Amino acid sequence: MDKRKFLKTTVIASTGMAAVPSILLSSCNSSTKDKDKDKDNNASTAKTTIPTFVLPKLDYSYDAFTDTIDAMTMEIHHSKHHQGYVNKLNAALQENPVSAQSIEDILKNHDLPTGIRNNGGGHYNHSLYWDILTPGGTMSDNFKSLLDQNFGSIESFKNELADAGKKRFGSGWAWLCQDTDKKLFITSTPNQDNPLMKVADKQGHPILGIDVWEHAYYLKYQNKRGDYLTKIINIINWQKVEARII
Ligand code: MN
Repeated sequence: MDKRKFLKTTVIASTGMAAVPSILLSSCNSSTKDKDKDKDNNASTAKTTIPTFVLPKLDYSYDAFTDTIDAMTMEIHHSKHHQGYVNKLNAALQENPVSAQSIEDILKNHDLPTGIRNNGGGHYNHSLYWDILTPGGTMSDNFKSLLDQNFGSIESFKNELADAGKKRFGSGWAWLCQDTDKKLFITSTPNQDNPLMKVADKQGHPILGIDVWEHAYYLKYQNKRGDYLTKIINIINWQKVEARII
């Protein structure tokens, strides 16, 4: 990122108009609610800070990669589906206040009520998805070596990731993650769950997430989820994926 873009992103983040990178690092706006107003009529005067999340802006236009994802799918997916998760997450947090502020901490550290699990997962997952797409991306030699070490070859990695998406029954996500030993692994989750959550088959730090809900691909690919998975690997921003490694 050049200095001008860094400054722009920083200013956007500091004003709460979350760009994609900032929403993955922090919550965004916060508001303080008086617990006396809660429906349980708690008489305590203690304050609970409830984060308010916003839809991240995209770094690219809806028609940035129409060979892979058509513009209408992108627009509906971002402005309707993702906005819906954000709205419902904010409503769910009003009903079930949590002490954590960032979406990561909310998803990691709490036994999640259904509304926060589904819509908080939806917000986190889609924010990551938008962030790691680009009209054209190439892998660094360092990242290629990492994939070789962890999966045997880059082709094996791509095939395993696509398989995770193809084999996910119904709606869900395919993931590249890091485990606690920093080893990379591929997994998938149903619905809007993700590997941050305690309910995941295997927990880890998400590096890359691919949406395999039908709303992500159906207008262009119909029932051919495998074709979507084969194509989307060509519009991954590998620099951002690599930067997520911890
Ligand atoms: Mn989606």
